[in-house]
Amino acid sequence: MSVGPLSQKLFATAKNLIPGGVNSPVRAFRNVGGEPFFVRRAKGSRIEDVDGKHYIDYIGSWGPNILGHAPTVITNTLHEVAKDGISFGIPNPFEVEMARTIVDWVPSVEKVRMCNSGTEATMSAIRLARGFTGRDLIVKFNGCYHGHSDSLLVAAGSGALTHGEPDSAGVPADFAKNTLVLPYNDDEALEALFTERGDRIAAIIVESYPANAGLVLPKPGYLDLLCSITRTYGALLIFDEVMTGFRLGKAGVQGIEGIKPDLSCFGKVIGGGLPVGAFGGRADIMDLLAPIGPVYQAGTLSGNPLAMAAGLAQLRELDKPAGFARLEQLGAHFESGLRALMQEKGIPHRLNRVGSMFCLFFTDREIVNVDDVMQQDLELFKKLFWGCLDKGIYLAPSPYETGFLSLAHTEADLDDTLSVINDVLSTL
Ligand code: PMP
Repeated sequence: MSVGPLSQKLFATAKNLIPGGVNSPVRAFRNVGGEPFFVRRAKGSRIEDVDGKHYIDYIGSWGPNILGHAPTVITNTLHEVAKDGISFGIPNPFEVEMARTIVDWVPSVEKVRMCNSGTEATMSAIRLARGFTGRDLIVKFNGCYHGHSDSLLVAAGSGALTHGEPDSAGVPADFAKNTLVLPYNDDEALEALFTERGDRIAAIIVESYPANAGLVLPKPGYLDLLCSITRTYGALLIFDEVMTGFRLGKAGVQGIEGIKPDLSCFGKVIGGGLPVGAFGGRADIMDLLAPIGPVYQAGTLSGNPLAMAAGLAQLRELDKPAGFARLEQLGAHFESGLRALMQEKGIPHRLNRVGSMFCLFFTDREIVNVDDVMQQDLELFKKLFWGCLDKGIYLAPSPYETGFLSLAHTEADLDDTLSVINDVLSTL
């Protein structure tokens, strides 16, 4: 299977100029054993590649495009706002409105600081937690991705509790040893670690619903346990809602689950497709940030008017009656169709779905953590991916990524997609 000739030509040139031909690794299609297409334009639920082929898109720029591609409400806003200036490095009113909106929508957030990516948000939240507690150790979960800062590029061996091993060349082992990795959804491992070293742990950071190794959901009570154990030991709980925040409801997973983390990280949806990140939480912790506190954090483009205005325009659309409720409706429609189809085909599978996020696993193992995710039939996934791409359906080019629906998707889009998946699976 391959993409069109113009995409192939562009990729050949790109490989000589950009490492691996891409500016972010997953775009290279290596997990599905092929080369990527290049996009010319996208509108609504559709993408057109440089060879003129059209696809229904289930990635939405990896999460930000919750209204679909290039929604008029955002493109108009960008045109208007850009006329008055693109970046000032001076406070502007949009920053205050964005902070007001986040604080109003997310009950655990009393103060918030904007930055330019999810990576910056989690990196800064970790620094702040260390500064607040005066402790160095942090805990993350195997399979959770929090961006590519040094402290967080550690996944370590599955199962057992280990000292962190760097997951990337260039991260000093001496640095990574401060990151402790636990298996997700494992109460005993968590309790054992805190019993042994709880008084030295600054924070637990967790993807509110882990969605970077498939989509894994917490066992009942697990998030409450994270909350109570951090309280008991004087550590902080950091919810990474970069993917789930403002996608699964106004208050993200913490709103759904009734959890009050100390700090939260955001990105993607709040930038309306422009580079953005944010972290916020308890005012007594946030006030440790420079310029009023000793924890340094900064950004030339942070809070720039374009990203703020685009994000605000997007959030206002989501706040309408046809916002989150409609996304749930679309998600439920897709889920029931996919379940029926998979059952009819008799293919062992698991399907996890929350609102507009979904992940299909080709395995009959219960999905508790990343070890289960790794057991799926990768060859079958690759065949589905390429078969769908060939017929104009763009699924994530990796079995470890979550799919996204947008408000631009229609039931007809979803039904067309299900019929393509049916055709592809029938030929295997
Ligand atoms: N946290 C989570 C949960 C993410 O999914 C991602 C990116 N997919 C990040 C952090 C990093 O965000 P960015 O790519 O904007 O740096």
